Amino acid sequence: MHHFHYAGPNLHCESVDLAAVAQLHGTPTYVYSAATMTDNYARLKAGLSGLDLQICYAMKANSNLAVLRHFANLGAGFDLVSGGEIRRVIAAGADVKTSVFAGVGKSEAEIALALENGIFAFHVESEPELKRISHVAGRLGLKAPIAIRVNPDVDAHTHAKITTGKSDNKFGIPLAAAAAAYEAAARYPHLELKGVQMHIGSQLTSVAPFVEAVCKIAPFVAELKAKYGIKYFSIGGGMGIVYKDALASGQQAWWDAQAPDQRPLTPETYGAALTPLLQPLGLKILLEHGRFMVGNAGVLLARVEHLKRGAGKNFLVVDAAMNDLIRPAMYESFHEIVPLHRDTTRRALTADIVGPICESGDCFAKDRQIQELGEGEFLALMSAGAYGYAMASRYNTRPAAAEVLVHGSAFDLVNARETFEQMTGNERVPAFLK
Ligand SMILES: *Cc1c(COP(=O)(O)O)cnc(C)c1O
Repeated sequence: MHHFHYAGPNLHCESVDLAAVAQLHGTPTYVYSAATMTDNYARLKAGLSGLDLQICYAMKANSNLAVLRHFANLGAGFDLVSGGEIRRVIAAGADVKTSVFAGVGKSEAEIALALENGIFAFHVESEPELKRISHVAGRLGLKAPIAIRVNPDVDAHTHAKITTGKSDNKFGIPLAAAAAAYEAAARYPHLELKGVQMHIGSQLTSVAPFVEAVCKIAPFVAELKAKYGIKYFSIGGGMGIVYKDALASGQQAWWDAQAPDQRPLTPETYGAALTPLLQPLGLKILLEHGRFMVGNAGVLLARVEHLKRGAGKNFLVVDAAMNDLIRPAMYESFHEIVPLHRDTTRRALTADIVGPICESGDCFAKDRQIQELGEGEFLALMSAGAYGYAMASRYNTRPAAAEVLVHGSAFDLVNARETFEQMTGNERVPAFLK
């Protein structure tokens, strides 16, 4: 469910006509719906309402300061992965004390920054990391709260680049070695064993791998509680969203029309399956969803440059490109693409929808059916709120896109389009070339 819909012929986000946003702020521009994020947060919380729950939004999915502040206002902490992300949480006026620090290569400086700001816990991925964190904590005269990431070795049945819970990828410590890792951790003077963590992958569309992983790890979690008095179990993130029928999935009717065994994962299904497995542990439960929280809460607005008609193929060239939204090029992922102004009297067009970058990979959609569109008309790439702007680059010296947040009938620029001076401001031609 989300708040993007046609009101008459025009695509709206909540009560805002998206063409008005495109006209005022130009394109490419990301637009986010505050109400959709609020709903996603509330549904997740309600879905697991029987538990002592702490939702740590995985901010790598979308770390705009306004988005962070919105989630902080709702009561969320953050799952963060770098010193830069710690600084973003602080800059958003939010608190690091309910946030966890994940990632396989935290530097000493990043560990110190997290400790100085009262991080809730470090999620540790290896034994060398235990040593480093204890060392930094000792230097600061502190005890570092930690949880070890245990790899349950389940197949998340998702794209190879976003599966993380198999034994052959770089994340976590295998279950068989986890007891020894906790014993090692307990011997460090400056570590406090506070929890245990798992995360099996991203864009999961069924609850079965989550259930399998929790069942596999739960007995070990109970042992840790008995032995070390750990306080929490983080089951990670990874809940998938609807990409194919993105626009329609904003309406309850679409969900009702799906056959039960075809229905994408919902927070209600997720909560109903996992709550009974987690409740008996008697621990605080942390959730670290990123994509689910923001993915369907954002779109990328673009403008048509040309309709290039070829012999066997048409190309709709738009002003957004793979540098703005890399998911199709990187993961072959699907984004629904819809016109901002719908005109049912127009002919349908089958075209490749492409950006202006000098790469064949700069293609958002192949042989896509869309109403015929001409130069200057706008369209929206749906489900672009997660891993969109956050993964953008400056390839082809294209500036970072603008970002806008909608709240009811109000909207505001929450990140201005980057300027040429900002892009090149740190570059210098050295004296020996002059
Ligand atoms: C990326 C990541 C998440 C969030 O994944 P989503 O698929 O966006 O929910 C959560 N936890 C960890 C450890 C991650 O690396």
